[in-house]
Amino acid sequence: MGTGTSTGVPSLCCTCEVCQSEDMRNKRLRSSILVRKNGHTILVDTSTDLRQQCLRYDIKNIDTVLYTHHHADHVHGIDELRSFNFFNKTAIPCYGNQNTLDNLRKNFGYIFGKAEQIGGGIPQIIPHTLEDKTYQFGDISVTPLDIQHGNLIINGFRFHDCAYITDCSGIPNHTMEKLKGLKLLVLNALGFKDHATHFNLSQALEAAEIIKAERTILTHINHQFDFEKVSKDLPDDVELAIDGMRIKF
Ligand SMILES: [Zn+2]
Ligand SMILES: [Zn+2]
Ligand SMILES: [Zn+2]
Repeated sequence: MGTGTSTGVPSLCCTCEVCQSEDMRNKRLRSSILVRKNGHTILVDTSTDLRQQCLRYDIKNIDTVLYTHHHADHVHGIDELRSFNFFNKTAIPCYGNQNTLDNLRKNFGYIFGKAEQIGGGIPQIIPHTLEDKTYQFGDISVTPLDIQHGNLIINGFRFHDCAYITDCSGIPNHTMEKLKGLKLLVLNALGFKDHATHFNLSQALEAAEIIKAERTILTHINHQFDFEKVSKDLPDDVELAIDGMRIKF
């Protein structure tokens, strides 16, 4: 649904080569994925660009929302869930770890606090704290993964033989154990430079090498990566994510 870092690419006001590029593969909405199987749809993160993403990819239904963490780029489209509430006439279960939910409650008092708006103006959300177990949402099995994001512990998710890990600066050993035998790993690689809370390209490649998924796709990318130039030097089993990418299993 989106493959960009928190600013998106192009970044507002930036005149760099990548932000000015005409190549659609250098245009990145905020990071998010959709997982679908047999009529059940899971959205990972309500990105700032959620409305645009749902229009662009014709998303008409969301059954479950999984939150990786509470940072703005992963959450601030939360209000768009209202449209799915209206048209599907259901509240949407949303899962996150305790810290994520605490922050959502604090930052979105109008949703989680005392009702001050009436008449359908508030997203109808049912919050659930993620537990250390494998969930079954429709026919999709989901295992939450502990991921280090600076000094926070946030969530990645394993869906069958695929894992989605964004905003990662380190993978704890107990999570490494849960990443064995992957066909697909989607992992963040922010840019070339060192960053306190995100893997850069060389750190992401190092992690990919250890995890050894059959295929690794790099996401949550900033404007340092020109798709064409960076792709040329990647190992055969690693590629850059593109907005709108669909992968079938
Ligand atoms: Zn982020
Ligand atoms: Zn730029
Ligand atoms: Zn973050």
